[in-house]
Amino acid sequence: MAYQVLARKYRPQRFADVAGQDHVTVTLMNALKQQRIAHGYIFSGHRGIGKTTIARILAMALNCRNAIGSELRPTAEPCEVCESCTEIRAGNAVDVIEIDAATNRGIDEIRELRDAARYRPARDKYKIYILDEAHQITDAAFNALLKTLEEPPDHIVFMMATTQPEDIPQTVRSRCQHFSFHAVKLVDILGELRGIAEREGVDADEAALALLAEAGDGSMRDALSIMDQAIASAPVEDGRPRLDAAQIRELMGSVPNAVFEKILEAVDANNSAEVITVANQLLDAGNSPAQLARQCVRYLRNCVIAKIAGIGVDGAGADGVAGELLQISADEQRRAARSASLFGEEELTRFLQVMLRTFDELGYRQEQRFHFELGLLKLVHLRRLLPVEEVLSQFPVAGGTGPVRTKGVTAAAPSAARSVVNAPVVPVSTKPTFSPFETDKNRKRFEGGETVAPTPVAAAVPVKAAPVKLPETVSVAVAGIGGCCRAAGCRRAFARRCSGRDAWHGVGSCGVGA
Ligand SMILES: [Zn+2]
Repeated sequence: MAYQVLARKYRPQRFADVAGQDHVTVTLMNALKQQRIAHGYIFSGHRGIGKTTIARILAMALNCRNAIGSELRPTAEPCEVCESCTEIRAGNAVDVIEIDAATNRGIDEIRELRDAARYRPARDKYKIYILDEAHQITDAAFNALLKTLEEPPDHIVFMMATTQPEDIPQTVRSRCQHFSFHAVKLVDILGELRGIAEREGVDADEAALALLAEAGDGSMRDALSIMDQAIASAPVEDGRPRLDAAQIRELMGSVPNAVFEKILEAVDANNSAEVITVANQLLDAGNSPAQLARQCVRYLRNCVIAKIAGIGVDGAGADGVAGELLQISADEQRRAARSASLFGEEELTRFLQVMLRTFDELGYRQEQRFHFELGLLKLVHLRRLLPVEEVLSQFPVAGGTGPVRTKGVTAAAPSAARSVVNAPVVPVSTKPTFSPFETDKNRKRFEGGETVAPTPVAAAVPVKAAPVKLPETVSVAVAGIGGCCRAAGCRRAFARRCSGRDAWHGVGSCGVGA
């Protein structure tokens, strides 16, 4: 038999063999057991994660000649031995029609399909249409399918596999059951690769397999395609191909992440010369700036996540959510944590931003090499610059009283910042340690304690205490409202003569002050 690529040779034939899509397989198996078969399914998700595979398994399970619970088929899984199962697996079943919707996307093709769907299946229970890349079907063609999808004959099941479910009209989606597939986790891909390497008789160390799994980036098929290529180019020892990490890196045109660890160490040491030297070595070795920038972005992203998740340099705390976010091997997690420990979260975020922009720009700029070098140099400079928030926090808050309430910061701080910019190599400790949030924190502390500064409300009191001197007539009018007129000169008289007789004030002046 002709050679089959790994992705096809090891294509799962049972729901249980599909890695990382339990939420889909369990639901479908339950539906099969309960005989709750929908007439339209949409399988959506990233490429190479098992959409078409599950569609085929479901087709096998629907058309299997053996009933669920029989001797050959105890569960809802297809029996894999009856003629229907074997035909579907071989791709020549009459009643399972696989259509590449990317090329059969027009209204004529769909009309043809619709007309053919009226006829009963030739032999099996269901006539099943698997539409691959279903989002490519035109709107008019989807409209032609609407009526059939809404009230199809009992023997019809449509399955649509797509990477862009949002491009399928809502009217179609609402008539189908939609299953959204997850990206396959690194550990699942790794487990699968390990098993396949064993069955293929390939010697592969764990680092090499981890590298292949990472390269898959959530796609099982991508990982298997690279593995195929790696096995083909691997040296053979004792009749067994041998995979190692260096050879796979060379094949993928990527460089070890140790290089980026080295670059970040040089950035931490404010050593531009070292950064440029490493970049020069990489570029001279024939690596493309775009590929390097892409890898650098990924590495920085992993550092940011390691920092946020608080992964220790020994890899502690890399389980749970952190492990979910960092789909890389344990060695790489420790490396990212080591690099992350050199910088603060804000700094790493800024690095990531700069490298992302650099990577973007490389796509349309001439002289890619210079842009890549510039991007790396910016990282060194970012380390020397003060963020504008920190500079602003050194100035008094507008409307506030007294000196700046920052802890341990004096007026000398701006000049210290200037010297940081001028100095070529400055140890980290000379960098001011205050942050813009310190001001806010201190302010809260002041308000809570007894040292609270006079608030604007309190400041308004003296204004009331020193009234404007009003003319006599006005003071009478004020008295008329119902209180003491309090006009200058008559207050004492009021206090003596008019207590409890406010109404009297309204009539006229007390006479003393006038
Ligand atoms: Zn069967």
